[in-house]
Amino acid sequence: MKQQAASRYCRCGTRLARDNAGSLCASCQAKARDLVIRPPEAPAEFWTTDQMSDALGRNCQYLWIGVSRGLLITS
Ligand SMILES: [Zn+2]
Repeated sequence: MKQQAASRYCRCGTRLARDNAGSLCASCQAKARDLVIRPPEAPAEFWTTDQMSDALGRNCQYLWIGVSRGLLITS
């Protein structure tokens, strides 16, 4: 008499396939992967705050210094 393995479930409630050795369903795996490989979503206002303007200004200054000193030019 064969014993049936107990069903396993993803955190979202989806029953996991028997051949899925992990703990997440395909949908949750894709969402988890997207969190790692895609940039975070930010509202348009995020880029126009004074803090962002100051930070970008500093970084552009460093970029310009690097370019003017030939540090960032590769050929
Ligand atoms: Zn899931």
